[in-house]
Amino acid sequence: MPGNASLSAAAMRYLSTRGRAPAQSFSDILLGGLAPDGGLYVPEAYPQVSRAELEEWRGLPYPALALRVLGKFITDIPARDLKTLVDRTYTAQTYRHCRPGRDAAEITPLTTLAPGLHLLELSNGPTLAFKDMAMQLLGNLFEYVLGRRGETLNILGATSGDTGSSAEYALRGKRGVRVFMLSPHGRMSAFQRAQMYSLADANIFNIAIRAMFDDCQDLVKAVANDAAFKARYRIGAVNSINWARIAAQVVYYFKGWFAATAGGGEEVAFAVPSGNFGNICAGHIARSMGLPIRRLILATNENDVLDEFFRTGVYRPRSGAQTRVTSSPSMDISRASNFERFVFDLAGRDAGTVRALWEKIDAGGSFDLRATPLAARLPATGFVSGVSTHADRVRNIRLAWDKYGVMIDPHTADGLGVGLRHREAGIPLIVLETAQPVKFAETICEALGREPPRPSAFEGIEELPQRIEVMEPDVAALERFIAAHAGE
Ligand SMILES: *Cc1c(COP(=O)(O)O)cnc(C)c1O
Repeated sequence: MPGNASLSAAAMRYLSTRGRAPAQSFSDILLGGLAPDGGLYVPEAYPQVSRAELEEWRGLPYPALALRVLGKFITDIPARDLKTLVDRTYTAQTYRHCRPGRDAAEITPLTTLAPGLHLLELSNGPTLAFKDMAMQLLGNLFEYVLGRRGETLNILGATSGDTGSSAEYALRGKRGVRVFMLSPHGRMSAFQRAQMYSLADANIFNIAIRAMFDDCQDLVKAVANDAAFKARYRIGAVNSINWARIAAQVVYYFKGWFAATAGGGEEVAFAVPSGNFGNICAGHIARSMGLPIRRLILATNENDVLDEFFRTGVYRPRSGAQTRVTSSPSMDISRASNFERFVFDLAGRDAGTVRALWEKIDAGGSFDLRATPLAARLPATGFVSGVSTHADRVRNIRLAWDKYGVMIDPHTADGLGVGLRHREAGIPLIVLETAQPVKFAETICEALGREPPRPSAFEGIEELPQRIEVMEPDVAALERFIAAHAGE
């Protein structure tokens, strides 16, 4: 029951940010998306980590640390099973694409650029983007929970690049799961197409739509809104609002803190390139659990909705048509789907406040916290923000290369640039590296006049045979295809 601390520590329940959905267990919210009242699931309280417990964790290998952190959120999977899943997820083999000289067994190795300035490598997984850190765990959790329940799931998604391939590499070959991934025909880079379309697993279906990314998203929404079809074919999603993805991301904030500090509750700052507010939301949760984070430095690209909020208190999502195409494309987002989780906390976890604010957002509007008590609470959250433009990005890719001898991708360059603007003397700054440069060769060439190196496992992938279904943007045709290939 709420308020019973010992009981809630034993069995973690999840609530909706809008307060009108029943509390659920982790396994129940794992396979769903939004709560039925339109809110996002959050734990009923953030588990706390004392200074003593924190120091006990220092030196743990990544899987053991992940088990400690995740064990506080996942209480309905037996500890032994959770350990098996976590050990299977975080292996040096899966995260082997690290920089020469780095230890893959660290999973997220820390590279020190200068005293007090670090890069936390999060993109050493199968698709060379940080999304693998969480998606790989999600794949194993899905297989486990579906297997126990004797159920199947058909994942339907749309991608313009990183998310789709990360999901496919996490779910390929998993029992009980089929993946139907829409992408805009001919719009992704040759490297991205090769990554996704060359997967030969029988449970992966790549569908190239003769349209733009927004149209692909509209198709996904149309199928999700077809309640009868959705129920009959058990359509699910793996998008960034999934709570398990956030929980998995909390772990590497702990790992980064251990790697950059010597102990004693030393404070650090994290700089995080942001789009959907997923990655940095995990930082906010780590801080809420007691990890000594002084600042969470949020970097946006030219799509600056989140920077505007943290500077002014005004949250003003833009329409898809107003979203700008930039050279850090995985952050070309104008509606931060995890942001509601943060505002729920800012509002003292008052669901009524969140409902009132999102009534405006869901009607296509904005909200302004300046005249509310919430604005006064913002400084205590530790958030600061900034915008990084194409010129900043190119300059910071050069800076990292010329000054520190490290090649970074355009998103990480946004984080580095904004991080340095907010850097404080004596506080270690950890920049989260969210992708490898090879995925964004064009911008690297512009900045450095050279091609990014390609991890050997990706040599010649463009030559592999590709398997796709090309389709017009037609809901009925898409539903026919899914019905013909869905798992029973
Ligand atoms: C998804 C992504 C981001 C943005 O992360 P959010 O969790 O959406 O804020 C940043 N960089 C890269 C490379 C990404 O793929």
